[in-house]
Amino acid sequence: MKKIIAIYPGTFDPLTKGHSDIIKRAATLFEHVIVAIAANPTKTPVFNLHERVQLAESVLAKLDDVEICSFDNLLVEFAKQRGAQVILRGLRAVSDFEYEFQLAGMNRKLEPTLETMFLMPAEQYAYISSSLVREIAGLGGDVSDFVHEEVRTALTAKLKLKN
Ligand code: ADP
Repeated sequence: MKKIIAIYPGTFDPLTKGHSDIIKRAATLFEHVIVAIAANPTKTPVFNLHERVQLAESVLAKLDDVEICSFDNLLVEFAKQRGAQVILRGLRAVSDFEYEFQLAGMNRKLEPTLETMFLMPAEQYAYISSSLVREIAGLGGDVSDFVHEEVRTALTAKLKLKN
């Protein structure tokens, strides 16, 4: 297999065990994996960009050849700047497909040399989403099965601050 750099973009608000499962799988397949955290101000994330990067760094610290970055430009431009040949996305269920299909198509139109590839998480992570995690934590539910300990602690602190 060729030496390929993959870029895994997302909002990661916050990083979940589903995301980290995808990243671990990718780290075994690609020479280098760039977790690219999108500024995404239109989504008004709960965690600011710096916090999302710090949480991802803390959770993924032990993984070799995995790098965490933030970006606020066009993904295909950022991928090109970083020498990535593959955009990596996670697929949980059929419901993800339509949006991901559209996104991959648009990105291919913008930059035909970049391939989008999809990985599926382990079954127990397939129903996890950052938005549900935020909602459950906001209502006082236990999210420890869905996120790593440092993320759970940060969520609790953030939500206390808001109330
Ligand atoms: P975005 O705003 O780009 O959708 P997310 O952080 O929600 O950012 O997701 C980034 C990528 O990770 C997307 O491809 C999404 O489908 C995937 N993803 C999200 N949650 C999971 C999960 N539990 N298992 C596998 N992939 C996931």
